[in-house]
Amino acid sequence: MSDEVLVEVEDLSRSYGAILAVRHISFSIRRGQVLGFLGPNGAGKTTTMQILSGNLAPSTGRVRIAGHDLLEDPRKAKQAIGYLPEQPPVYRELTVDEYLDYCAGLNRIARGRRRAAREAAKKKCGLSDVGRRLIGNLSKGYQQRVGLAQAIIHLPPVIILDEPTVGLDPIQIREIRHLIRELGKEHGVILSTHILPEVQATCDQVQIINKGELVLNDSIEGLSRHMQSSTLSVGLRNAPDLGLIQGIKGVKSVQDQGDGRLHVFYDPSTDPTEALVELAVQKHWGLYELQPQRASLEDIFVHITTEEHESLKGAAA
Ligand code: ATP
Repeated sequence: MSDEVLVEVEDLSRSYGAILAVRHISFSIRRGQVLGFLGPNGAGKTTTMQILSGNLAPSTGRVRIAGHDLLEDPRKAKQAIGYLPEQPPVYRELTVDEYLDYCAGLNRIARGRRRAAREAAKKKCGLSDVGRRLIGNLSKGYQQRVGLAQAIIHLPPVIILDEPTVGLDPIQIREIRHLIRELGKEHGVILSTHILPEVQATCDQVQIINKGELVLNDSIEGLSRHMQSSTLSVGLRNAPDLGLIQGIKGVKSVQDQGDGRLHVFYDPSTDPTEALVELAVQKHWGLYELQPQRASLEDIFVHITTEEHESLKGAAA
């Protein structure tokens, strides 16, 4: 993976009248990275995407795409971007080939190179067999592939995708996610989505925006550390002595779930699992289940985007 920085956003803000929709956000993306951009409705995702894709001017701040300043050198910066908006800009009455030829022209690909560019984009997006089909007659999944093909036809270093799997069936979703991961190997990809498993399936970096502010920017591995278990669900056939469990090193508290299971909360630095198993065997408690309870990305998302948990803002990079 190359370390080349492809997108640099510095202290970016955008207001609509009195509304400050995006507030002083900074981040960067490298080649080979897929960045998941998450946030509740109205958080400022679309505004940020529109600014990055050169369709909206920022109020303040700086954006560099593949080394080109978006305000000072907009033509070069925009050429370095492929953008798939939420509604793919496809013309239903054209064939796939006609449409991609048109897009090649829009992206200033020289006439003699358009056919090769079109065929390469079709190959990458699994469209080689449907070049002569009318776009309007293709399934939604294939139309989305056409949308992706138009975004990458000029081989931009940066690809911006807004909710790329909305409205697709589970098989199409898997295919498009696979495609995004493939694209992520050679490009820098920003993926805006509401679908949290999509982020876990496709991204290696996660960014959460809330009320215009970046409240989290972390790698998927970093997030896994956030999600590290500190709760065990324990199933015992015979009623245990809760005091003994409470006394195990690292255990903070024990909660009886009322169905034969206990939840054991512990300090993540001292995992009590082994000691608990030994105790259960020694005391003949009939241990039949032991499961670490992991926080999900959804738990983290809700936690840091709801007002009562503002304290976690310290997690922002
Ligand atoms: P969603 O997930 O619902 O699409 P979002 O995260 O994309 O939301 P934005 O569309 O960027 O959020 O909106 C951020 C804020 O800016 C919201 O409060 C929104 O109402 C406001 N806003 C967006 N566009 C305009 C506009 N053209 N004029 C005035 N306010 C706007």
